[in-house]
Amino acid sequence: SPGVDLDTLQRWLRAFAASVAEHKDELTDLDAAIGDADHGANMHRGMSAVVDALDAAPAADPAALFKQTGMTLVKSVGGASGPLYGTWFLRMAPATGGATTLDPETFAKALRAGLEGVVARGKAELGDKTMVDALAPALDALDAALAAGESLADALRAASTAADEGRDATTPMVARKGRASYLGERSAGHQDPGATSAALLVAAAAGSVGG
Ligand code: ADP
Ligand code: MG
Ligand code: MG
Repeated sequence: SPGVDLDTLQRWLRAFAASVAEHKDELTDLDAAIGDADHGANMHRGMSAVVDALDAAPAADPAALFKQTGMTLVKSVGGASGPLYGTWFLRMAPATGGATTLDPETFAKALRAGLEGVVARGKAELGDKTMVDALAPALDALDAALAAGESLADALRAASTAADEGRDATTPMVARKGRASYLGERSAGHQDPGATSAALLVAAAAGSVGG
């Protein structure tokens, strides 16, 4: 099966940045309901800085690309989402094993390492109404599809569907992590902003990787 090369990974990051820009107001509106109305601005600032860094200094290999992306997000985004998305990419970097082209299993393993970093850092469990509720089912679907012999493109489409379902499932949840948890029961009935941006990240992968 075809590998995931540096150009493809850059297309993924640029596609995510474009999607965040397109959905900036939606992400902010969601955060206005249960947070502090800055998730769209936070993600847009961070991913714009990531694209600027790509334009200024193209990375040498996938590990360098993920490291640069993670560091840029940590530096440029105040708020919970910057360190969490930053950790996601920083943890992906070593999981590539220094390969120039990632085979589907290595790409999936790197994504899994990213999720484990987010969980280690944020301590969110499934059902806490966070980005983890979109990312964890997405990676489970990705692994299951690859194990069943599906192409990376098909597996990422399955992951994107699972991420969307996970995002939607956050609506009735009571938040137990992040700002939304300050609202207690009043956080129920609102879709989580971070799960929404996370579903965009997976959708961008489905749209640009393995296709
Ligand atoms: P802040 O809440 O600091 O303003 P953002 O609004 O940019 O940061 O991001 C909020 C999102 O971050 C939430 O919707 C949630 O998905 C995610 N989040 C917050 N805390 C955690 C955590 N501990 N673990 C995982 N995700 C979290
Ligand atoms: Mg916020
Ligand atoms: Mg904030």
